[in-house]
Amino acid sequence: MSLRLTQALPALLAALSLGGCATGAVLADRTMAPVLDRALQRQAVGVQQQQPVFTLPPVQEAAPAPTAMNAEPSPAVRWLYGSGESAAASIQTYRQLADYGARAAATPPAQSVAMGMPDVEEGVGTASCRTRDGGRKPLAVVFDADETVLLNRGHEYWRSGTGAPFSADSWSQWERDGITQVAPVPGALNTVRALRAAGITPIYNTNRSIENAKGTIAALAAAGFGETVVGEDLFLRGMDSTGSNKDARRARIAERFCVIALVGDNLGDFADAFNARELGIQERRRLAGRGEYAQLWGNGWFLLANPVYGAFDRGTLDEVFPPDARWSPTPGAAPATLNEGTK
Ligand SMILES: [Mg+2]
Repeated sequence: MSLRLTQALPALLAALSLGGCATGAVLADRTMAPVLDRALQRQAVGVQQQQPVFTLPPVQEAAPAPTAMNAEPSPAVRWLYGSGESAAASIQTYRQLADYGARAAATPPAQSVAMGMPDVEEGVGTASCRTRDGGRKPLAVVFDADETVLLNRGHEYWRSGTGAPFSADSWSQWERDGITQVAPVPGALNTVRALRAAGITPIYNTNRSIENAKGTIAALAAAGFGETVVGEDLFLRGMDSTGSNKDARRARIAERFCVIALVGDNLGDFADAFNARELGIQERRRLAGRGEYAQLWGNGWFLLANPVYGAFDRGTLDEVFPPDARWSPTPGAAPATLNEGTK
């Protein structure tokens, strides 16, 4: 620490005590910063007039806050929250689902759609659409919430602008407070209304926490999906002991409903088996495209694209691109016209 700063410190500390605030907050405060600046300059000038005056950075009218929004969104964020392409893609998927729901309502199935459930072979099975007394279970479609029916615009705005990594604390706060800054995924509302009109119950099976259920209920309502009731048409992480796995919740829903379709942005919204950590990424990709699962996409299983976050987000360059995919341009192999005069 220089002599000038050492001698300026008492003035700085005195000024800080005036506000009674945390140092970082005081320095960022437009009211206090000029006071500090002048105090430090007076102190420094009194000590060594011939030396350059120690000073804080000039105070700007629009001083950046500690969480300045000065980062630009990633291509994935631009695509999902800002692009017409993502709106078109989700409307396309939701139209398929509405058509699928209308067909199922006209001819109710005997079994639910295939879904991840505990204690079934390979983790995927079906449940009967009959009740124990032989009646018909009411039809339902099971939706994930985040980035399936809700776009978490406020949270992703904050994360994109600050460049902050995902944090469980800030996400939990968002679950509680992020009500008006959500939006419905394009196409979702029309399809949910069409399903309801066809007598099909929308049910939400989300990994939002049960502790923040009030905020999630408010967010779904604010986005236009209506009132939901925990354990009736809203199922949350923490309702059982299986954490973020959804199979047990799916089985619970299928006890009461004939589930005709699953909708999500993560393979775990269809079966937990897809998100087993021991699966390599190419193995996981092959599994999703394997015969019995391939025939379900758009035909009982409906996936919304989410390139921003999710279980997909892992893999080294060599894991993403297997040996038969690797290519690089040959140095000096430019078109002939560009090589003229170089021989
Ligand atoms: Mg999701």
